[in-house]
Amino acid sequence: MGKVTGFMEFERLEEGYKPVPERLKHYKEFVVGLTADQAKVQAARCMDCGTPFCNSGCPVNNIIPDFNDLVFTGDWKNAITVLHSTNNFPEFTGRICPAPCEAACTLNVNDAAVGIKSIEHAIIDRAWAEGWVVPQVPKHKTGKKVAVVGSGPAGMAAAQQLARVGHDVTLFEKNDRVGGLLRYGIPDFKMEKSHIDRRVAQMQAEGVVFRTGVMVGELPKDSKVTNWAKETISPEQLQQDFDAVLLTGGSEQSRDLPVPGRDLDGIHFAMEFLPQQNKVNAGDKLKGQLRADGKHVIVIGGGDTGSDCVGTSNRHGAVSVTQFEVMPQPPEEENKPLVWPYWPLKLRTSSSHEEGCTREFAVSTKAFKGEKGKVTGLTTVHVEMKDGKLVEIAGTEKEYKADLVLLAMGFVNPVPTVLDAFGVDKDGRGNAKATTDFTGGYATNVPKVFAAGDMRRGQSLVVWAIREGRQAARSVDEFLMGFSDLPR
Ligand SMILES: Cc1cc2nc3c(=O)[nH]c(=O)nc-3n(C[C@H](O)[C@H](O)[C@H](O)COP(=O)(O)OP(=O)(O)OC[C@H]3O[C@@H](n4cnc5c(N)ncnc54)[C@H](O)[C@@H]3O)c2cc1C
Ligand code: SF4
Repeated sequence: MGKVTGFMEFERLEEGYKPVPERLKHYKEFVVGLTADQAKVQAARCMDCGTPFCNSGCPVNNIIPDFNDLVFTGDWKNAITVLHSTNNFPEFTGRICPAPCEAACTLNVNDAAVGIKSIEHAIIDRAWAEGWVVPQVPKHKTGKKVAVVGSGPAGMAAAQQLARVGHDVTLFEKNDRVGGLLRYGIPDFKMEKSHIDRRVAQMQAEGVVFRTGVMVGELPKDSKVTNWAKETISPEQLQQDFDAVLLTGGSEQSRDLPVPGRDLDGIHFAMEFLPQQNKVNAGDKLKGQLRADGKHVIVIGGGDTGSDCVGTSNRHGAVSVTQFEVMPQPPEEENKPLVWPYWPLKLRTSSSHEEGCTREFAVSTKAFKGEKGKVTGLTTVHVEMKDGKLVEIAGTEKEYKADLVLLAMGFVNPVPTVLDAFGVDKDGRGNAKATTDFTGGYATNVPKVFAAGDMRRGQSLVVWAIREGRQAARSVDEFLMGFSDLPR
């Protein structure tokens, strides 16, 4: 423990944001991270409380009190060693993790939690700047070949772990760039894509072969899922060419809203809208990009994806942006004695909301309206919870103007055709069926085929994808070698 009285002496300091008018002019990150001195003070707030609930609140079980202590004592190099021992990509989580660790922090019981995520951010950014993040090339090769299908955080973490223990890993990705939703979902203003490119270079040096633009199996003809594949490879071929196959294809099937008028022009899934802007930011030319300029935009869905649509629409220059959430507005503050150390339900206002947005809660969309085939508005009704069900409140119908409607109501499951092509059993929600058992976990019903990340657990978080990728890598390694030294 760095400073015994730190938690009594120092206040929590949030990372700064660049001013709204300035950041709305571009798609770059705008968070101002802690300086080394500020990080030291924040780390001093850690009480090293003995039972670090933060450590189990963090899905990758980051060893938080230890890196806090190392930052406090100025030993940044060991701080990154500790951080990397549990998390392959802290620069991703240090930017976009919702930080369930902080909800679980003991100081959060009666004070503001330690700023764990901002300290993680400071450690990894310093490590890159100092040149401490270098390839870890395996000393021995095993001669075993592993195919990883899908290059999101789960696939990347698994591929890195497997390459580091000497397997020949090929990572297949149907899109034209590596990263999954980190690349073509999460906007650049939340996480710039150079962070992914840097890791790809590191992983290439460690021996991972990336094959982008290659679709494993086939998508249904009418699929709206992002796909820039130029080549297809069959599951049979993959099973023949590799000793093990790990499926990390995400949960890409967006939830639809089949109400009257859904087929009008101008109503799109968020995942048609967001990837296009990321592609343009990457320097690609797109014909007929979906844009919000000069439009009244309605975003249906109150989560992260919806908030990213708000931020992107405001950067395009939308006239108005309104976001609907079907659930009632949660309380501003949680009842800590009731919910700590768990993730509380409370009102969360994102940096995108702060940039300009009207938020409506307990609202359900009944129908879209249009003229000449184009959406012009929609009709909503207020809803309330009765006997565990959302029911409409009579007489609360309302009309909204809309030139662009973005559906951001989450993802139902992975694209079924891909799992079906492998013959992989699905669970009740349509995800790949596999346990997370210590031995034999992540294995599907198909011999030598494993599954992890959103494809197995359903729509989730980057930090959970990293955890599943790491754990699945251990299972695959154990399957190939009979034992594994990889950590879980
Ligand atoms: C808009 C948006 C914003 C989000 N914001 C956050 C956030 O701020 N913080 C957070 O923690 N989480 C966030 N999430 C959730 C997070 O991005 C996901 O939980 C995480 O990326 C899942 O990782 P994954 O590796 O399992 O799958 P994905 O990231 O979905 O990657 C799967 C990859 O597999 C590829 N693929 C699929 N099938 C095939 C195939 N048959 N052949 C070849 N390639 C295939 C896909 O093209 C894709 O690139 C957000 C999600 C969205 C959509
Ligand atoms: S990965 Fe997320 S939960 Fe874990 S320490 Fe970092 S911010 Fe907290």
